[in-house]
Amino acid sequence: MTLPQEFTEYTSRLFGPERWERFLQSFLQPTPVSVRINPWKTLENPFPNAEPVPWCQQGFWLKDRPPFTADPLFHAGVYYVQEAASLFLDYVLRQVVTGPVSALDLCAAPGGKSTLMRAALPEGSMLVSNEIDRRRANILLENILKQGHPGVLVTHNAPKDFAKTNLIFDVILTDAPCSGEGLFRRDPTAVNEWSPQNVRFCAERQRGILRDIWPCLKDGGLLIYSTCTFNTYENEENVRWLAEELGADILSVPVVPDWQITGSLLTNWQQPVYRFIPGTTRSEGLFMAVLRKQGGKNAFSTLPSSLRAQLKKYPFLHLLSDGIPQPESKGREQIPSVAQALSLSAQEADFPRVELSLEESLRYLRREALKLPNSTPHGFVLVTYQGHPLGFVKNLGNRANNLYPKPWAIHNL
Ligand code: SAM
Repeated sequence: MTLPQEFTEYTSRLFGPERWERFLQSFLQPTPVSVRINPWKTLENPFPNAEPVPWCQQGFWLKDRPPFTADPLFHAGVYYVQEAASLFLDYVLRQVVTGPVSALDLCAAPGGKSTLMRAALPEGSMLVSNEIDRRRANILLENILKQGHPGVLVTHNAPKDFAKTNLIFDVILTDAPCSGEGLFRRDPTAVNEWSPQNVRFCAERQRGILRDIWPCLKDGGLLIYSTCTFNTYENEENVRWLAEELGADILSVPVVPDWQITGSLLTNWQQPVYRFIPGTTRSEGLFMAVLRKQGGKNAFSTLPSSLRAQLKKYPFLHLLSDGIPQPESKGREQIPSVAQALSLSAQEADFPRVELSLEESLRYLRREALKLPNSTPHGFVLVTYQGHPLGFVKNLGNRANNLYPKPWAIHNL
């Protein structure tokens, strides 16, 4: 792969010769594969010989990349395939959030950090997981529903929509759209889309997003800002701008030296920020900073327990899921939804269950009809794999109609 010349000139200077050399060497290595186990669905790691990622309680590196699509546990939300650097958010949240909070993940699709966030936040917290792009919001919804935690509300809005409400959050994660330099190793399209102009455009857009959402953060509340790029325009300079223009303190999170996280690379600016660089850290690229909002007008946040009701007051907030899965009405019939099957709110408990083999589970996930054992009652039946719900079928006796959502069906297997 050929790296853009301007990127090479700038980033080799930014990293210095040793880090740059290690970065180039990393392109010759396979990208590390890691997963995060969903603690709400299992406490057991389904991957033997996996190696713990030290900065994430449920994170593991795998020896190689299994065909995840062919594993029903993946579709059941038992684990999420997540790049190791992103898992650092788990460590950060556990360091800085000590009690139940109202949290917003502003740029959330496809949902890696949101699903992690809900697992890392203290019990009693409520998370609004938001995505501006409609197509990506649907993918976010699918991933949130599969993870099954009822304390997540999924919305599809622009950052400035939140500023039109009275919603005030204790914690806001802004995992901003960026120029993607940290993804070059695993995603050649990120290389093709890179340009110095796009870096400038992204840096400006990030400031706009941060400016729009800032009024929704409580005084003393936490903003976690992250990107998956290396340059200082989108990273340190935006963090400095947050501190100088919007009034934020930059917080230090004590990290273990062995993790090889790189600090500020902006000349004459040594504030605590956290950068993952392939070749130096065992991961792809990531930048993260934690900021605390100074004084202002918002002394109180929206209570986690009232967030759902408060959010519903604003018709322009496009709520895709309120965390309470409902059956779907078809004529006079109430059809149980896949969200009910996958949710941890135990709404599936009233239905008969049938355990499927691996082969039957894959047929189910391809939306093919199944034949259940003769003793199975007619009507709606929950199908499981290794005890984990996958979804519903309607059992007619001679066959069972598949109710798995069309857009979620797997192909080419
Ligand atoms: N946090 C996600 C995760 O961990 O799976 C990844 C988020 S991705 C880096 C950035 C997201 O920001 C994209 O889903 C993109 O659609 C969204 N986005 C793009 N432009 C935006 C804007 N102007 N305001 C808010 N979000 C935007």
